[in-house]
Amino acid sequence: MEKKFQFSLSYLFIALAIFILLQNWLSPQINNVSYSQFKSYVVDKKINSVVISSTLLKGYEKVESSKKEPMFPDVLYITPRIDDRNLVEFLEKYGIDIIAANENTFLRTLLSWILPTLFFVGIWMFMMKRMGQAGGGMMTLGKSKAKIIAQTDLGVDFASVAGHEEAKVELAEVIEFLKTPEKFTRLGAKIPKGILLVGPPGTGKTLLAKAVAGESGVPFFSISGSDFIEMFVGLGAARVRDLFEQANAKAPCIVFIDELDSLGKARGTGMMGGHDEREQTLNQLLAEMDGFEVNKGVVILAATNRPEILDPALLRPGRFDRHILVDRPDLKERVAILAVHAKGIKLAVEVDLGIIARRTPGFTGADLANLVNEATLLAVRKGKEQVEATEFEEAIDRIVAGLEKKNRVLNETEKKTVAYHETGHALVATFRKTAEKVHKISIVPRGIGALGYTMQLPTEDRFLMSKTELLEKIDVLLGGRGAEKIIFDEITTGAQNDLQRATDIARSMVAMYGMNEKLGQVTYLQQANQFLQQGLFQQKEFSDQTALLIDEEVRKIIDERMVLVEKTLVEQRPLLEKIAKTLLEKEALDDEEFKALLAEGA
Ligand code: ADP
Ligand code: ZN
Repeated sequence: MEKKFQFSLSYLFIALAIFILLQNWLSPQINNVSYSQFKSYVVDKKINSVVISSTLLKGYEKVESSKKEPMFPDVLYITPRIDDRNLVEFLEKYGIDIIAANENTFLRTLLSWILPTLFFVGIWMFMMKRMGQAGGGMMTLGKSKAKIIAQTDLGVDFASVAGHEEAKVELAEVIEFLKTPEKFTRLGAKIPKGILLVGPPGTGKTLLAKAVAGESGVPFFSISGSDFIEMFVGLGAARVRDLFEQANAKAPCIVFIDELDSLGKARGTGMMGGHDEREQTLNQLLAEMDGFEVNKGVVILAATNRPEILDPALLRPGRFDRHILVDRPDLKERVAILAVHAKGIKLAVEVDLGIIARRTPGFTGADLANLVNEATLLAVRKGKEQVEATEFEEAIDRIVAGLEKKNRVLNETEKKTVAYHETGHALVATFRKTAEKVHKISIVPRGIGALGYTMQLPTEDRFLMSKTELLEKIDVLLGGRGAEKIIFDEITTGAQNDLQRATDIARSMVAMYGMNEKLGQVTYLQQANQFLQQGLFQQKEFSDQTALLIDEEVRKIIDERMVLVEKTLVEQRPLLEKIAKTLLEKEALDDEEFKALLAEGA
């Protein structure tokens, strides 16, 4: 809906202005005067011709004796006609032209009213035409926007998609079907109509869909769910109808619907009794999916990162009944993705994609593509012949923590606080066995919110976490505030995010992973979105008492761990002071420097 039909009010204003001008121009300056004044104007020769109608006297200025009522007089004086028997005599005395009333003002009315009306109609038609170009428009109701044109020759195949091996296996069957539908139809095999690709943004869902089209060499229709939702009720549905008409004509082909959730939200959840337009569009989509012949060769791929809000009807058999998880890449996949994007780029020999991948857990494919590009741009800016490891380091720093905000200066006290805070994280990480090793500590303010950061390097991607690991993760998070407390005997707002994350971990231990004695091996919360590990909790049913107990136990974990963290930091206080001071000086420490400081001892 964004850019499509931006009907600006300025059109209306322009039209109004022109309308008023026309009115002014076509209508004479009218002066309503009293009868005696009218007469005095006659005496003064201000009026030189008069029209006498049944109710009015109209006096005109500067009219040649045309004996006709002028069409466009300059000035007009009007006064009510009074039963004055001497009027004619009086007028003649002053040599005034008396013009028979000509009540037929047809042409003037025409000009002053019809013309503006025509003008408005013109503007309206212009707008409609514009809308017609942008979207389906009223005039071309039901025609899809020009964008829905089948793409062919996308230049994307499975080789351009790194990782996602399971997804590729699942999609291989679809490709096989699109290539040789007869093979399947002969045996009466049913191919899934709809496949839902589920995963966070930037993980390569669109890329996969395109690769399927590329591999099977069929046309690719792509549209976003939000494109269906139009301003006028009924348009979205018409658009769906049209899309499927086109797809059927081009079969075998692939229809890709991005952001399915914006169209396929569960019905009846909108405010004010639901979103009519979306509901109609969704119903049309469901009807089309049910309607078309499976073996015609139209395969619908859809992408979403919020499968849990989809209307259940969309997920029923015969619709999007097959789901493929397209998750964030793991270490190995990150290496592969980096390799794909580094293909056309001159890399220095010492650049190790493995190390870069290790430093970028949680990055999506899109993030990694961006990283390679950023690094290349940096190398170009520096006039280098090749992209070296430093550029990648710099690009990672940029992407991880936002661009360096060099002009955002902390005052000395703040800087000192941040230095001790970050060193606190790093030291606790060092003195906890399971904690990830420190990769970099920095107190250069970056982006919004992060004053400094301590980056730990996980040695591998983790799928299972032990209780000890979770507790020690909490320790590291609490290390920042712990250091502030010990050194300054004061706490700051800088720990808000740390505390939130620590609390989240503690809460999930208690209520989700069954790691608390009082609450037992029972789950009370579940992850709202198990696909995406967003750490959002969804409440199951439990009593207020249980809720209270959960809160108490969470609090207990945090309090207990805080005591342990402070103990560690008090023991290591000399080291804490030394490292923090060095950090204050250098603003950033990498793992080598940090290790050297540790080895030196206090
Ligand atoms: P999504 O549709 O899941 O939001 P896209 O498919 O649009 O993500 O991915 C955006 C870009 O990120 C792609 O054009 C590609 O350059 C890059 N990318 C993402 N995943 C991969 C991958 N697995 N292999 C290679 N490139 C990828
Ligand atoms: Zn912190």
